[in-house]
Amino acid sequence: MTAAALSVIVPCYNEAQGLTETCKRITAACQASACGDFEILLINDGSTDATLAVMQGLCATTQHIIAVNLSRNFGHQMALTAGLSLCAGERALILDADLQDPPEHLAAMMKIMDTTKADVVYGQRTARAGESWFKRVSAALFYRLLGRLADTTIPKDTGDFRLISRRTIDLLNRMPEQSRFLRGMIGWIGLTQVAFPYERQPRAAGVTQYPLRKMIRFALDAVTSFSIIPLRLASYGGALLGVLGLTLLAYVMRAWLAGETVQGWTSLMVVVLVMGSVQLLCLGVLGEYLGRLYIESKRRPPFIVESVTRGDAPTNV
Ligand code: UDP
Ligand code: MG
Repeated sequence: MTAAALSVIVPCYNEAQGLTETCKRITAACQASACGDFEILLINDGSTDATLAVMQGLCATTQHIIAVNLSRNFGHQMALTAGLSLCAGERALILDADLQDPPEHLAAMMKIMDTTKADVVYGQRTARAGESWFKRVSAALFYRLLGRLADTTIPKDTGDFRLISRRTIDLLNRMPEQSRFLRGMIGWIGLTQVAFPYERQPRAAGVTQYPLRKMIRFALDAVTSFSIIPLRLASYGGALLGVLGLTLLAYVMRAWLAGETVQGWTSLMVVVLVMGSVQLLCLGVLGEYLGRLYIESKRRPPFIVESVTRGDAPTNV
């Protein structure tokens, strides 16, 4: 067969420890699901450990594995974007390298796609084993908040673990935006999307590559890409404070006319501080959108591929 029937896309950042096992389980899952020819694209997202060497070692053992080396760390969503733009499969399975999303679910997901003719089968977490309470609570809050803010339907409690059709891959590749929140972008496409409930497993090896800093950035990308409600809130907040300010003005004038002028240091400080912080917050919200607009306007390529390894020889790109 010319093109692979299935591409498995695995973003990897410092995953040297568990990668061999991951590839073993993905290969077994692909063979078991009888999906025909398959390719496993390992995307090295500027790892600082031996991830690339491990990948290249794996490539030499089988022609199913392809190692894509990005020129630096571009982030999880960009690594996935690189995989999607290079994959040749009729379908693509998006999977984390740490085995939190078990590849063994592939057969069931393929079956759902065959029977429902859906374009997307998305994994929906019914439980998240082995994750801190902070991660679980913040994730639950985030998905609920995003659900309220976004106009697009973004299914709750889903990650990037999905099986998507070639049509979906092509549509995603046509979306040029730089801040990419893929699960939202896939939701935005529409078509038929079916949930696949599964239990998220603890990390098989290594440590999480999503520290708080990256989580906050990810959440801001998600909100600013899919909603302008924070901008509207700034103007609603401004209007509300304006009304309050006018009321206060009326009160102050009345007190002045009645000769009841008081020291008023405390109330003055409260008004100045509250107004100041609300204004800064609104400026910050504006800045988030403006900064993204600025980055978009440069129209840089979202990622740079340094080399691709098939078999035992890396090819520079
Ligand atoms: N990842 C990446 N680039 C990054 C951070 C993470 O490619 O800058 C990959 C990572 O190797 C893993 C996936 O993205 O395969 C999800 O990351 P992780 O498991 O650390 O996140 P968590 O599951 O803790 O949210
Ligand atoms: Mg993980």
